[in-house]
Amino acid sequence: MISKVCSKCGEEKELEKFVKDKTRKNGRRGICRKCTTLKSIKWNKNNPEKVKVYRELPFNRARKNAREKERWKKNPEKYRERKKVWAKNDREGLANSYICRLIFEAFQVRFSEITPERIQNKREQVMVFRALKSLKEAINE
Ligand SMILES: [Zn+2]
Repeated sequence: MISKVCSKCGEEKELEKFVKDKTRKNGRRGICRKCTTLKSIKWNKNNPEKVKVYRELPFNRARKNAREKERWKKNPEKYRERKKVWAKNDREGLANSYICRLIFEAFQVRFSEITPERIQNKREQVMVFRALKSLKEAINE
């Protein structure tokens, strides 16, 4: 049995207990699976905003939606209506998912390049744009 010592908890464990990593010499990460999980739980706790953004990225949303789509395949009419309502709510409420989509459409960036700051900047931009638009409409009336 080939084993390895975890650099975090210091326990000696079999190689299977380490996540594969091709960039490493021995093909495994330095910390064990258990420590990796604990680390990510801790990170999620300390970065709730980033987790929220990450969850709402189109890539993750699509995965979630795929499951729901399967459920609603039998009832396409209902699904179409719900989708319309969601899109409207996202647009009006300037939800992260809506802002993310705007950024994707405008810059064709990778999801890792979308930061909470970037989303906030874009949101403010859209708010200014909307305010100007309603001002223009008020003047024209
Ligand atoms: Zn460990």
